[in-house]
Amino acid sequence: MRRRIVLLGPPGSGKGTLAQMLEEKFELEHLSTGQWFRNEIREETELGKRVVEYVARGELVPDELVLGLLEHWLTPELIQHGFMFDGFPRTRAQAEALDKFCAHKMAPLDVVLFLSCPEDLIISRITGRRVCSSCGKNYHVRALSPRSPGICDLCGSPLIQRLDDTEAVVRDRLEFYREVTEPLVDYYRDSGKLVSLNGAQGPEAAFRDAAQVLAS
Ligand code: ADP
Repeated sequence: MRRRIVLLGPPGSGKGTLAQMLEEKFELEHLSTGQWFRNEIREETELGKRVVEYVARGELVPDELVLGLLEHWLTPELIQHGFMFDGFPRTRAQAEALDKFCAHKMAPLDVVLFLSCPEDLIISRITGRRVCSSCGKNYHVRALSPRSPGICDLCGSPLIQRLDDTEAVVRDRLEFYREVTEPLVDYYRDSGKLVSLNGAQGPEAAFRDAAQVLAS
């Protein structure tokens, strides 16, 4: 079983939904940097105040802020138990820092699951996306609606639209992705860790494929 995992892919490729499904099935800790930042913003912490402008504009939070959290996220227990990063690493510097950190702990990454997805599908997925304001579970106005309108199935909290899920901001996020994050596909392919999955298929099919890879 592969237990130290990175999910890579453009915004809207289904990383968050897949991670939530894998977390349930394999009891892997789902570490979403975006969700982490959204919680900090909602709670108006010092970190939240420092990152809110970047997140709202669809820009990347500076590496030094993100990397300062690595030690905090990856506790020795989690390294042993297994983890799944969603939204991290997003830059070459972050990928190198993660590799170095894992090598130092003698716990290298097992696999990087890359979800590919065409851009028109990304835009329609993201602009229709709604998320739980409390637990972060993802929904979609057409494709994945909750049992009661506007209410999270899991925790009963109201669903909201993320402040960076408007079409204009999505286009900027995609541009950052293409320029800064997409080169990590080659970085991980070169290290032999990359497995490509089709993110355009529905969540069930992506989950089935990913589960097979993790079990192999
Ligand atoms: P998505 O994958 O749909 O773009 P995320 O929830 O992963 O959404 O991220 C939302 C925002 O949080 C990003 O646009 C960025 O501003 C910030 N962010 C999340 N992870 C990182 C990271 N590893 N490095 C820099 N910024 C990040």
